[in-house]
Amino acid sequence: HRAKKGNQNYLFYSSEMNRRSLDRIKLEAELHHALDLNQFELFFQPQIDLPSKKVMGAEALIRWRHPQKGMIPPSNFIPFAEETGLIVAIGSWVLNEAISQIAEWKKAGLKLNRLAINLSALQFKPQLPDELGAILSYHKIPAELVELELTESLLMGNGQSTLLNQLHNSGFSLALDDFGTGYSNLAYLQHYPIDYLKIDQSFVQALPDNQHSAAIVRSIIDIATNLGLKLIAEGVETKAQADYLAQLGCHLIQGYYCYKPMSAENFTQLLIEQQGKENQD
Ligand code: C2E
Ligand code: MG
Ligand code: MG
Ligand code: MG
Repeated sequence: HRAKKGNQNYLFYSSEMNRRSLDRIKLEAELHHALDLNQFELFFQPQIDLPSKKVMGAEALIRWRHPQKGMIPPSNFIPFAEETGLIVAIGSWVLNEAISQIAEWKKAGLKLNRLAINLSALQFKPQLPDELGAILSYHKIPAELVELELTESLLMGNGQSTLLNQLHNSGFSLALDDFGTGYSNLAYLQHYPIDYLKIDQSFVQALPDNQHSAAIVRSIIDIATNLGLKLIAEGVETKAQADYLAQLGCHLIQGYYCYKPMSAENFTQLLIEQQGKENQD
């Protein structure tokens, strides 16, 4: 009797596991197809200078336009793509697409100081500078227009220092994304050629009332200022948050308070409106 019950449990778990691994196999195949069928798309979220409210740059954020499921956010497939290694191919698509978009804006006479691109740890390999170099020269775009967003955990690997210096010396800006949520080893800031800290949205969104978050944000701004690093606050949703950050000396912000991530077409329109206005001043 006992053995039978055990067997049933075994059968239950095993079919549950089969279902899960089937889902994963299906998702992996679909992700492969998504690349071939051009189902990925980049959205762009403006980065704003305060108080001028001028668009200084943007962050490229991937979306998956699934034929049945609609628009899928990166949180639903990037972690899986990282597990399976597919992120390397997807990441290359992102680099090509983002840089070709910079070239389009340039051709249209629209100015953008920088476009930020997110990198996964698996992409952060010795061949990256050559890959980036080839894409840039194909589109005749200088590295100075590209900011690479890295995470703190990516910096933990061996030999990352050489790669960071190589990229930095080639002209790329380097930003530490989600700052304050990872290992936050301050020694990195001293030894690595980081240009920007992006204050994580979890701290920003608790401003200005949460005393702990406010203290953390003030400390991050202090460190950045003392080390000569530039700051970007992400996830700014309210005027109160924007005012608080500006008052502390963080003048670059990104968040729903200003703009949500938008299609290339809408971002192009925004640049046209803004730069048209500028010319009338
Ligand atoms: P991230 O790089 O930290 O990007 C910021 C995320 O915060 C974006 O989510 C953005 O839409 C969202 N966000 C911006 N402003 C606000 C706000 O005011 N309120 C709230 N609640 N959220 C805001 P998204 O686009 O869903 O991307 C999520 C994450 O997926 C990114 O976090 C990044 O880690 C990853 N990701 C996106 N695109 C790529 C990519 O091309 N390559 C890689 N490797 N990762 C990517
Ligand atoms: Mg990012
Ligand atoms: Mg972030
Ligand atoms: Mg994040």
